Amino acid sequence: MPPPGEAGRDPRKGTTPGRDPAISTAHATMQSLLDHRMSPSPENYLVWFSYHAGTHPELHDALDARLATQGRLEQADLNEMHARFCAGEPQAQAIGQVARQLEAALNDAAGMLGTAHDNASSYGTRLEGLTDTLEAAFPSLNEPLRRILADTQALCHSSRTLAQRLAERAREAEALRDALHEARRAAATDALTGLPNRRAFEERLAEALGRATAEQAPLCLLMFDIDHFKSVNDTHGHPAGDAVLRGVADTLREWARPHDRLARVGGEEFAAILPATCRGAAAGLADSLRRAVAGEGFIIGAEGQQLSVTISLGVAQLQPPETGEALLGRADAALYDAKRQGRDRVALDMPLMPEDPAREDAGAGEPGEARPLSWR
Ligand code: GH3
Ligand code: MG
Ligand code: MG
Repeated sequence: MPPPGEAGRDPRKGTTPGRDPAISTAHATMQSLLDHRMSPSPENYLVWFSYHAGTHPELHDALDARLATQGRLEQADLNEMHARFCAGEPQAQAIGQVARQLEAALNDAAGMLGTAHDNASSYGTRLEGLTDTLEAAFPSLNEPLRRILADTQALCHSSRTLAQRLAERAREAEALRDALHEARRAAATDALTGLPNRRAFEERLAEALGRATAEQAPLCLLMFDIDHFKSVNDTHGHPAGDAVLRGVADTLREWARPHDRLARVGGEEFAAILPATCRGAAAGLADSLRRAVAGEGFIIGAEGQQLSVTISLGVAQLQPPETGEALLGRADAALYDAKRQGRDRVALDMPLMPEDPAREDAGAGEPGEARPLSWR
């Protein structure tokens, strides 16, 4: 049985031929939400969107079966469908885009109706003024004129109501878009430090690699890990460890240049993508980060106790056409060399060449703090 309001058309298609399929699907989705008097929450939207997009045959059949037995759907049915078929879907991005398109379409429609309403309303006012004059001159027109006037007033009223409903729907679509945007942001962010998480990092690395390869520009990847971090937890407690992780993330943010891309990629492991940077400059930058972290006293308790930590860093330069995974593997291997060689130091994927810019900065720490650079 087709959902109410959709009789006569295949709800699986639910779309209009010739239109952008995504917009048609969004349109059918919104119509189903209206038909079933359901709020356009991201979950409801996703269920109906999947139903109309035809991406989940099992969801489609289950929904149809429910409609066949109950006649209409309740919120509990949608919750169940969402939990069974849609939870954990990576479709939020596509839906966010569709929601934006839908919002724009609704805004356009509301604008057009507003104009139509204004025209009808001024026509009605003029007609009303004329009616009295015409009635006096042509009494036989009395009845038809009154009817036209009443129809015009009804039209004004219904177009205003429709415009208001559309404006409401546009606001709901906007709220839906904001909710999806927030969900996407949260899914890409590490809650403790506010840095992008590993998943977001992998996406950014792929983008940065694509750009560097297209522009034939150098790119370096820096990975680092806090030294003996387990003993921070063991000695001062897990909350103190968390405070150190937040502090290291802040130091990393302060150190980074605007176009560098940062992430927390593991428990006490961080990464920085350094575009337009070759190995020599990256080694110098890495060592300045090492010194910045080592020079910081991170506050770990309400009484303001401070704790210092060190980090070990690995730097690798992109060797096109290698993959992000391969680059990551080389930076990681350099990081573990830095660990093996005593920690609190920078290691490179390969030795610096005489022509490497900024070679003289690399590894030249503050007096008394210099650490030799090493390489694999
Ligand atoms: P190494 O110098 O070899 O890196 O030694 P390590 O102690 O830093 O390394 P290990 O891998 O033995 O320990 C990492 C610790 O990091 C263990 C784990 O409990 C801790 N950790 C991971 N994530 C978090 C977190 O979110 N908060 C806190 N407080 N600790 C975490
Ligand atoms: Mg560690
Ligand atoms: Mg580690």
